[in-house]
Amino acid sequence: MASLVDGFGRSFPYLRLSLTEACNFRCSYCLPDGYRANGRPTFLEQDEIRRLLRGFAGLGMRKVRLTGGEPSLRKDLPEIIAIAAGTPGVRKVALTTNGCLLLKKARQWREAGLTALNVSVDSLDAARFQAITGHDRFQDVIDGVELALGLGFDSVKLNAVLLRGLNDDALPQWLDYLRERDVSVRFIELMRTGDNKDYFERHHVRAETLRQQLLDAGWTLVPRAADAGPALEFRRPDYRGRIGIIAPYSKDFCSGCNRLRVTARGDLRLCLFGEFGIPLRPLLQSDDDHEALMGRIATQLGLKAAGHGLHQGNSGITPHLASIGG
Ligand code: SAM
Ligand code: SF4
Repeated sequence: MASLVDGFGRSFPYLRLSLTEACNFRCSYCLPDGYRANGRPTFLEQDEIRRLLRGFAGLGMRKVRLTGGEPSLRKDLPEIIAIAAGTPGVRKVALTTNGCLLLKKARQWREAGLTALNVSVDSLDAARFQAITGHDRFQDVIDGVELALGLGFDSVKLNAVLLRGLNDDALPQWLDYLRERDVSVRFIELMRTGDNKDYFERHHVRAETLRQQLLDAGWTLVPRAADAGPALEFRRPDYRGRIGIIAPYSKDFCSGCNRLRVTARGDLRLCLFGEFGIPLRPLLQSDDDHEALMGRIATQLGLKAAGHGLHQGNSGITPHLASIGG
């Protein structure tokens, strides 16, 4: 039977599905001028999503992450979560969100079957948060995180993109935050995309710097599980929280790759920084195409490259991560 294994022996039990390209924030590294619709895009609808997830699950996908753009802008997000949670074989349904609707909606998402939550919080300082995201929503987002921590999710993680001169001196503040909270913060090294070249040159910081600071502060690297994905995890026994580092420019990053992406328009993307997308949408119009869909996904996976070309300054066709589902 076909399965989600590529030519380098990597398996891909993890799918990131973008639900929309739209976003209400203007993160300076992603959509600094805000979202502008390109034509009148139509994003995958519930029936298409149901078929897509059945196809991937039939090949061994066990975890799906819903992302965007800002996935919570989809009014039917609870229904989509329920579709994902009800797909035979799927054990984990995660969401990546900017947190703008967490306070209002987190309980409903949990009840619909969401098992894990990642919230982007680039700074614990309200003024800096506003400077980076373009929105004065820090308190809402962080109150939403507190609420979510009490809802019984398997995991709640915070994502912070490391930015030189904007938030790269904030480790002490994060450590205070993590001392008593059962939450993991993931520091993500800024990635260069098609649109952010100058910004990247101004604000990129190597994650290695942070790794050394953590080791100096008594944090230890947790041995990686075989299916752990590309993040490095650090712990310290007297802290409830954990710290992860995602360093796409590090030597072994691609060898730990365990994820595929599908854009909000239904294109399979084998790599965040790949050169092409493979249209799956034509095979999402009828249940009768289930086998053909699985065949197309498995065949394309055989073409997945060993690694990205970021080191050569080649960020592929991705203008910004909102367009593909970061
Ligand atoms: N809107 C949601 C959010 O912000 O969480 C989901 C989509 S967003 C594209 C997913 C993640 O990608 C966020 O944590 C964001 O900070 C991160 N991201 C966006 N652009 C990035 C870049 N150029 N480099 C590194 N991370 C980036
Ligand atoms: Fe929107 Fe997320 Fe991009 Fe920020 S990182 S602009 S919240 S899609």
